Amino acid sequence: MAQTATDYDLFVIGAGSGGVRAARMAASYGAKVAVAEEYRVGGTCVIRGCVPKKLLVYASEFAHEIRDIAPGYGWTVTGTSFDWATLRNNVLAEVDRLSGIYARNLRNAGVEIVNQRATVAAPGRVRLADGTEVGARHILVATGGQPWLPTDLDGAEHLITSNEVFLLDRLPGSILIAGGGYIAVEFAFLLKGLGVDVTLLYRGETVLNGFDDDVRIKVHDELKRHGIRVITQAVFSRIEKTDTGCRSHLTNGLTVDTDLVMGAMGRRAYTGGLGLEQAGVALDANGAVVVDAFSKSSVDGIWAVGDVTDRINLTPVAIREGAAFAATVFAGTPMSFDHKDVASAVFSQPPVGSVGLTEAQARSAHGAVDIYKTTFRPMRYVLPNDETRMLMKLVVRASDQVVVGCHIAGPDAPEIIQAVAIAIKAGLTKPQFDATCAVHPTVAEELVTMKEKWVPSP
Ligand code: NDP
Repeated sequence: MAQTATDYDLFVIGAGSGGVRAARMAASYGAKVAVAEEYRVGGTCVIRGCVPKKLLVYASEFAHEIRDIAPGYGWTVTGTSFDWATLRNNVLAEVDRLSGIYARNLRNAGVEIVNQRATVAAPGRVRLADGTEVGARHILVATGGQPWLPTDLDGAEHLITSNEVFLLDRLPGSILIAGGGYIAVEFAFLLKGLGVDVTLLYRGETVLNGFDDDVRIKVHDELKRHGIRVITQAVFSRIEKTDTGCRSHLTNGLTVDTDLVMGAMGRRAYTGGLGLEQAGVALDANGAVVVDAFSKSSVDGIWAVGDVTDRINLTPVAIREGAAFAATVFAGTPMSFDHKDVASAVFSQPPVGSVGLTEAQARSAHGAVDIYKTTFRPMRYVLPNDETRMLMKLVVRASDQVVVGCHIAGPDAPEIIQAVAIAIKAGLTKPQFDATCAVHPTVAEELVTMKEKWVPSP
């Protein structure tokens, strides 16, 4: 590691999705780049987020398929069993493989990987954990986020987070999960599918705040239909350790005994101790780096992308922000990522895919909207007489018939929404959707065959 004043064109702190993309692209434009990572190359998505989570979801879905679906198609499935250690080890091996690929791609791009914690010593100066200081024309903060847990809660030390679930020695018999967002909902379903007795504790009334209300109600109902105990309008008052696990005392007077208690009450930007405030970098009230449209912080030469900026906390967004940063700074082509109409998925069971405005947002932004929605049982579930249903909803701006939102809850929703997102991003209208011929028999064909406007019941 060099120790002179102007060692790098770019020093990236954090080798997650955003940092890696920015580093590789900057290097491809000819910049001399280093990226520091205190843990493992890959970041939240690869190491303890999207990737291992989705693998656990796949594993979990087998329960429903084997128990409820296969018999309707004539299959007798006997003697099944599930081994957590096999799944966990396979998932962790895949995480290792992907982390290795990320590191290799960085090296192949000519990026130097610094396997230690780095902090900002001053604008243009980075301090490493071993005491070395290096100079960099530009510093990119891409340290991501970390689970937030309430520090003033008596017994908070007994909470685990999603981070720990991937590493459990054995699956718990029961778990209480606090929260009603992406992580709480996804882990509630996946753990239930793996045979864990799950209780979800949510402070509001209906989970998935921020999503379209129809989707929220459906997912909330599905939680209960899957046998997950859902406790709403309550939070912890304290958590105590018991001989077998934990006892959660709730503000509604209930106590719940479970083997484990997990907090999924949001994440916060990982900026603590990074030296940002001392360098003059403005942070918001939650500690996220405040940036402009080009991901520049309040200090020249210090930039930030991804969850650490708390814009839209999704991997593909971090990647786009990282790419736009690199193009702006190192290719001389100023580029800002457009955060409008970013699709997202919740890997509940069944999953959710959503893009654009919710009905409520569209009404408040545009006034009159036309709603098209349908619920139906996909063909796949007819023979097994399974109650899994599909919800599809289009939100259309009445004035010009532009489709401004699409919300799907049901099998393959995340796969379908990716294609719909193209149409919505392109500003297509309901007549253009209708002009598209259906693919039959699919569930997605309903998107181009919904003819009747939905009329609320009087
Ligand atoms: P979210 O912000 O999605 O949800 C946080 C939940 O915790 C909300 O239900 C919130 O309630 C509740 N909560 C917040 N503070 C408290 C409190 N003090 N006491 C009790 N409950 C509280 O966070 P997640 O941790 O689920 O996920 C973090 C982010 O990670 C997501 O926003 C998303 O950007 C990303 N992510 C994306 C995934 C995907 O794309 N599939 C998967 C996982 C994560 P309320 O609703 O009332 O605010």
